[in-house]
Amino acid sequence: MIYYENISVDDIYGSLVKKTVKNATAEKVNCDYRELFEKNQYFYKPPFSKEILNSAEISSGGEYSPENCSPLFSVAIIVPYRKRANQLKAFLNYMHNFLRKQSIHYKIFIVEQADSKAFNRAKLFNIGAKYALKENFPCLIMQDVDLMPLKLANIYVCTERPRHMSSALDSFRFNLPYFGLFGGAVAITSDVFIHVNGFSNMFQGWGGEDDDLYARLVHKGYKIIRFDSSVAQYTMLSHAKESPNPDRINYLRSGYLRFDTDGLNSLVYTERAIKPMELYTNISVEI
Ligand code: UDP
Ligand code: MN
Repeated sequence: MIYYENISVDDIYGSLVKKTVKNATAEKVNCDYRELFEKNQYFYKPPFSKEILNSAEISSGGEYSPENCSPLFSVAIIVPYRKRANQLKAFLNYMHNFLRKQSIHYKIFIVEQADSKAFNRAKLFNIGAKYALKENFPCLIMQDVDLMPLKLANIYVCTERPRHMSSALDSFRFNLPYFGLFGGAVAITSDVFIHVNGFSNMFQGWGGEDDDLYARLVHKGYKIIRFDSSVAQYTMLSHAKESPNPDRINYLRSGYLRFDTDGLNSLVYTERAIKPMELYTNISVEI
């Protein structure tokens, strides 16, 4: 077991950045988040993990804001995607059930690579961030399509410090494999993401891009944080291993040379379509 700095369930609420896209409407009271942390309920069980409940509550484009109270948080959830239809369906059903229990304002962006080049997870995140920033989301959560959070106290909201969210993953026996792991699911304020120039666009194929983002954060003086392992539990849907990029170690080593020139500020791609679907906004691109 390795030691890492973490926020206990009682301290989570105080660590969150309270910011929304719109100002709260005057006639509604603020949403109350206390129960989430008092109970830290295990949520990944039927019916929540099976099919979507009350889907009429969700607006076209995959956006939701609580009806009865005004949320203190807005978040864009950005997911890189290509040809994993079964996982996407499971993800959307479960996540909408999960996220609506957290009384937050959120919108799900699925950024789909619509070409046959090597998959570029990091670049897809940069593209998703661009659209989320245009809509003034103050907080970005970037997450794989195959990860499902298990505990309701794992609130999908940014902390002041960049947060590695999926630190207790079942496929790693709920342990963190190495200290600087910043993959899977992460939460970063839009300001910090812009400050580090986003991800590198150069990592094609599997691996390295998450470690490069971690290096960018460290380089700019940010220290990452995690929630306690009683909260940050995830399950990963099973899939075949993608083939690792043989150049990933070289790119990672020389990455610091490109922090300021390769990233959000050098993002080039072709937009194929932006479609508001029932449960998500589909951003289809060639990279
Ligand atoms: N991904 C995808 N299609 C692919 C490869 C990757 O949609 O062909 C996305 C998907 O969101 C996936 C993430 O990229 O969860 C990370 O890839 P993967 O799950 O293979 O990484 P690992 O679990 O091995 O870290
Ligand atoms: Mn995976």
